[in-house]
Amino acid sequence: MRIDIVSIFPDYFAPLDISLLGKARRRGLIEVHVHDLRQWTHDRHRTVDDTPYGGGPGMVMKPDPWGEALDAIAPGGQSADAAPRLIVPTPSGRPFTQAMAVELAAEPWLIFACGRYEGIDSRVVEEARTRMRVDEVSIGDYVLAGGEVAVLVIVEAVGRLVPGVLGNADSVADDSFAPGSMENLLEGPVYTKPPVWRGRAVPEVLLSGHHAAIARWRRDQALRRTAANRPDLIAALDPARLDERDRQV
Ligand code: SAM
Repeated sequence: MRIDIVSIFPDYFAPLDISLLGKARRRGLIEVHVHDLRQWTHDRHRTVDDTPYGGGPGMVMKPDPWGEALDAIAPGGQSADAAPRLIVPTPSGRPFTQAMAVELAAEPWLIFACGRYEGIDSRVVEEARTRMRVDEVSIGDYVLAGGEVAVLVIVEAVGRLVPGVLGNADSVADDSFAPGSMENLLEGPVYTKPPVWRGRAVPEVLLSGHHAAIARWRRDQALRRTAANRPDLIAALDPARLDERDRQV
């Protein structure tokens, strides 16, 4: 997968060199290019913002550097299966979910446009839509100072799903929200050695070696935790996919 990130703060992306994603980059599974938006400015002050039309506080990112950046990074001409998809983080976008992460992990090329100030002039997205797929994506109902942290969140969630990045591909199947048995559920508690720590024992069933009983216990715990922390997800569960025991939990 190729990832291009455009930002006025390229240093924000240093963490992409470490841990899982750093290793994936060194192994050639993910290719990341970080671009400084200011290289597409032409004035002495390398200006990327201006006052908003209609008045009001704050500044808006000018369309010119963004247009030039996207032209330079994705000049077009790719076949449909190699075409880039532009992701624009914004609090007014569609909520980012695990399902979206799975979808994006199957893309060959993602471009991320990090907004700052009051955001990017809306014509940039409008114009980009005429030549590539564009998604405006929110990572939550709060407002960050810029798109950089949102992009780190999205890239990490997507990157770990790219085939070969995780040592054990099965581990994503048990994650919270994973498609399949965990869809719309939060993962329950997890434990490791020692079996007793500060007087607290690991639940006995986990030491039993009884796979069906362990799977059932995990599902019970996932249902309980989801009901406690995310009642909205419980309400959205498909009743047809719940068994008798689920209903008792
Ligand atoms: N005026 C904008 C609004 O109220 O929707 C907020 C702009 S915010 C201060 C600046 C930038 O941070 C946005 O352009 C976007 O790139 C990023 N950002 C802030 N909150 C975000 C969120 N919840 N999800 C994704 N990106 C976010």
